[in-house]
Amino acid sequence: MADLGEQPDVVIIGAGPAGLSAGLNLVRARRSVLMVDTNRPRHAPTLRSHGTLGLDGIPPLELRKVGREQFLAYPGAAHTMGTVTRVGADLSVSVQGLRGGPDLELRPRAVLVATGLTEALPDAANLRAYYGTALHSCIECDGYEKADGALALIGSASDLASRAWEIAHFSRDLVVFTDGSGAVSEAEAAELEAAGIRIEREKAVEIVGEKAVMTGVRLESGRVVERSGGFIRPEWVPQVSFLADADVAADGAGRIVVDRRFASSVPGLYAAGDVTSREPLQIAVAAGEGAVVARSIHLDLLAADRGGARG
Ligand SMILES: Cc1cc2nc3c(=O)[nH]c(=O)nc-3n(C[C@H](O)[C@H](O)[C@H](O)COP(=O)(O)OP(=O)(O)OC[C@H]3O[C@@H](n4cnc5c(N)ncnc54)[C@H](O)[C@@H]3O)c2cc1C
Repeated sequence: MADLGEQPDVVIIGAGPAGLSAGLNLVRARRSVLMVDTNRPRHAPTLRSHGTLGLDGIPPLELRKVGREQFLAYPGAAHTMGTVTRVGADLSVSVQGLRGGPDLELRPRAVLVATGLTEALPDAANLRAYYGTALHSCIECDGYEKADGALALIGSASDLASRAWEIAHFSRDLVVFTDGSGAVSEAEAAELEAAGIRIEREKAVEIVGEKAVMTGVRLESGRVVERSGGFIRPEWVPQVSFLADADVAADGAGRIVVDRRFASSVPGLYAAGDVTSREPLQIAVAAGEGAVVARSIHLDLLAADRGGARG
């Protein structure tokens, strides 16, 4: 493992699938890499992840552990527990150490932001207790296990109706809870109801269950709609507050805008994985983006070494 005191070629912020995949490919390209991570992965509530080639059903924490070990087996690799608090347009990086990790001031040649998303869940009581077991957010990841169940979809985002159609592919026994919002238009509701999918427009106030088994959704009026599980539509918030001084281009939802090589508007600053929010939000996609951005970074550093233009 490389010395934390040296300035690395690349700082990777976030050790999820995107950061780990980029790190592995960069150290294999003989680049020195420091990975900084707060260890708060988005998929922490789930016990098994699905849909990743060769790894279907693997616990996500095991995947991260193996990925970190394989990255750290290379001489150019270093990992530290810490929170990146600031990245400047000059690629200066400030790290606040966590769990014994040191505070660091770094000036690498390239920075990769792979910090993922945080999720704002619908505010029904007990929802967190069922998230990752009975209730999920990723239809691609968990739809198969929910097939033919008595399902709920809870959310207030404008894509609720299109998500309902995706879920209805797995079970027509579906109730869409708009959580007191106008998320599903009258025309959308009519089409869904014609297919046997119910719409509940009252606010969902509680997820009810017995001995950790979900049995229903309680509405504001007190009525309980029996459901055994389903999906929620969280608001996804990119983790980028530390980029405030970098003046990097972001879209209306705060996602970092990147090109096909995963380069941002700031030279030397790249982003990959959920933080760029390209659906589907899945492990394989994040890891694939990590491999692509690793090559972009490596080629840009090669070009800079030759005194040429990036890429
Ligand atoms: C409940 C749930 C279940 C899921 N199940 C599946 C599944 O079955 N199959 C599947 O393919 N996908 C699944 N996903 C989606 C998958 O987990 C994500 O798409 C994937 O983890 C994204 O990888 P990432 O590297 O972009 O981000 P993340 O995995 O979120 O990693 C980001 C890392 O950055 C760190 N970080 C954030 N801010 C900072 C900072 N300022 N400084 C330092 N570190 C920071 C975080 O602590 C975290 O470790 C699931 C998601 C959820 C929420």
